[in-house]
Amino acid sequence: MEEYKIFLPEGEIPTHWYNVLPDLPSPPPPYLHPITLEPMGPDDLAPVFPMELIKQEVSRERWIEIPEEVREVYKLWRPTPLYRARRWEKALDTPARIYYKWEGVSPPGSHKPNTAVAQAYYNKMEGQTRLTTETGAGQWGSALAFGCALFGLELKVYMVRISYEQKPYRRIMMETWGAEVVPSPSQDTEAGRRILAQDPETSGSLGIAISEAMEDAVTTEGTKYSLGSVVNHVLMHQTVVGLETKKQLEMAGDYPDILVGCVGGGSNFAGFFLPFIKEKIDGTKPNLRIVCAESMACPSLTKGLYAYDWGDTGKMGPVAKMHTLGHTFIPAPIHAGGLRYHGMAPIICALYDQKLIEAVAFYQNSVFEAAVHFAQAEGFLAAPESAHAIKAVMDEALRCKESGEEKVIVLAFSGHGHFDLAAYEAYLASQLEDYEYPGEKVKEALKDLPKVAV
Ligand SMILES: *Cc1c(COP(=O)(O)O)cnc(C)c1O
Repeated sequence: MEEYKIFLPEGEIPTHWYNVLPDLPSPPPPYLHPITLEPMGPDDLAPVFPMELIKQEVSRERWIEIPEEVREVYKLWRPTPLYRARRWEKALDTPARIYYKWEGVSPPGSHKPNTAVAQAYYNKMEGQTRLTTETGAGQWGSALAFGCALFGLELKVYMVRISYEQKPYRRIMMETWGAEVVPSPSQDTEAGRRILAQDPETSGSLGIAISEAMEDAVTTEGTKYSLGSVVNHVLMHQTVVGLETKKQLEMAGDYPDILVGCVGGGSNFAGFFLPFIKEKIDGTKPNLRIVCAESMACPSLTKGLYAYDWGDTGKMGPVAKMHTLGHTFIPAPIHAGGLRYHGMAPIICALYDQKLIEAVAFYQNSVFEAAVHFAQAEGFLAAPESAHAIKAVMDEALRCKESGEEKVIVLAFSGHGHFDLAAYEAYLASQLEDYEYPGEKVKEALKDLPKVAV
């Protein structure tokens, strides 16, 4: 019997996160203070983040234990299944063996709760009662709302105004988990009021929302701020994805030739590939390819500069060395809200700079074409972000068809697109442009029928 899914029992949820820092040939350079531009120390970060996460950010321990309470919550949806995409392989007529690690089974529908739950836990343990964060498309806000609900923390989410208006269902999801959600810019912060005074009609941006959430955290008792991607500790929390995938591939008797994922800030894909990369660095698996798929609308790796830049438009957060399009860059309003960040995780950037990983960028229409092809074979509707990775896998699989190579391609499938159906609708409508509307054909088909007065 052909297997479609490879499951791990709950007892196989990883007990430790993997920290890649001690295994990197050359780790990313330190963060700089946003005002002094001097290397930042733990004390500089303490007003914003809990101590345990600051320690994890710079830790040189290869394995960091996942607290029992966090693993207990992970049990709600982890371990996640690894699928063999047998139907899609047939549809593509490729000799490649394609697998996908499916993170869409989490309650918020993506990989993001892997870190949200951990961050909520550490804040709770250190006596915080409330968190703040920003959200663009709403994926991160909903993941943190879920995490805060389970550990009894209050949460305020500054949601970029345009998304707040266009994506009411993500907002309702956050409110159901007990979070307070306001459109950003808001009247609730200095930063928000300043922007609104200049431009009351502004649709907002992630950079402004970050500034509001940070200001709220540093000025409110018992409150810290929480980040959903980019920084080292977030990438590390996501390694549960890759650690499980490794075991599941062993069970299937396969080892990957190509790992593929989408990158916005870089957390889901790094969490997926980092547990494999040591074997490439130490020469055990020199031919393993790792392919980052990004949006042509925000191509930080393929078109950005590798330089120190601010992480946010308001210049409140750390300055990091990364591939960046500049902290003032405002990407086109593509549907993949999670791929619209101007920078990239410093760990991913260091690996890209050392040519240990590759990157490709795609236009929006080509990724939806691939996602629809995938959905018609495998059933799952990908998040617009994940659709970029699906497109990259499709290209590799079609190359295998030409060369006849039976490569093993493994996709980091970061989330479902059930709240992004407007994006599918727009794509499907765009495909109708060349379509001959039935008007003339209907007349033709009806021409022999008697005309009746209506
Ligand atoms: C947020 C998000 C991304 C992009 O963020 P990364 O940190 O690059 O992983 C990708 N896919 C989904 C489904 C997301 O919600």
